[in-house]
Amino acid sequence: MTTTYDKPLPDVDDPDMGPFWAATRQGRLTAQRCADCTTLRFPATPVCGTCLSEDTGWVDVSGTGTIWSYAVYHRAFHPGFRGELPYVVAIVENTDGLHYTGRVFGPRSAVAVGAPVSVRFDAVTPQVSLPSWVVAG
Ligand SMILES: [Zn+2]
Repeated sequence: MTTTYDKPLPDVDDPDMGPFWAATRQGRLTAQRCADCTTLRFPATPVCGTCLSEDTGWVDVSGTGTIWSYAVYHRAFHPGFRGELPYVVAIVENTDGLHYTGRVFGPRSAVAVGAPVSVRFDAVTPQVSLPSWVVAG
């Protein structure tokens, strides 16, 4: 059976973000944590923005949070999204204070700044599971 996913995919071999995509494939939301000052950061960067350390690791973080900001897409900026218009993309602030950008699923009437959300993972290819957010109805 051939599965076709016709939307953009992340580079799961990216040296900075590769560990994040490996974790999403296992259904885990993660962030970098500086090995020296323990500051969490996302998206991944090669250097800690707090202490400039290059010594880092990855840790599991909270998969719940609230919508920090959002947009409703009424135009498809990639042909793969044409059949899903309109759809919601949000910046979610998880309970660890980190910001993640992703699709939001659930009742549109419940989408608002401050609305509680929880993460979900969709295996769109054998190598890629994309995190998105579900707003409670
Ligand atoms: Zn640091």
